Amino acid sequence: MRSRSYHDLVVDVTCVRCGVTREGAGRVLPGELGDEIERSVCAECWKEWLQAQIRVINHYGLKPVQREDRERLYDFTRQFFGIGPRPHEHAREV
Ligand SMILES: [Zn+2]
Repeated sequence: MRSRSYHDLVVDVTCVRCGVTREGAGRVLPGELGDEIERSVCAECWKEWLQAQIRVINHYGLKPVQREDRERLYDFTRQFFGIGPRPHEHAREV
């Protein structure tokens, strides 16, 4: 990886969810998932997920400050956008 020069400049992406090329969501999450979202999710879909996320958090009683719950939330995030492999992890209900 090269040096991280972070501008507030948002680049256009072709969104994996809606298929439209427009303003991207930007760097909204850390790590690998954050990379994927930055590359392939538009700002509009990210906003939709932020709304949906609230319902998911309430429904499952997730506490995103805890690592485990955050990971589960990341899995839901992947599902929502249809990105990332790891399908086997969803079978493991705790
Ligand atoms: Zn989109």
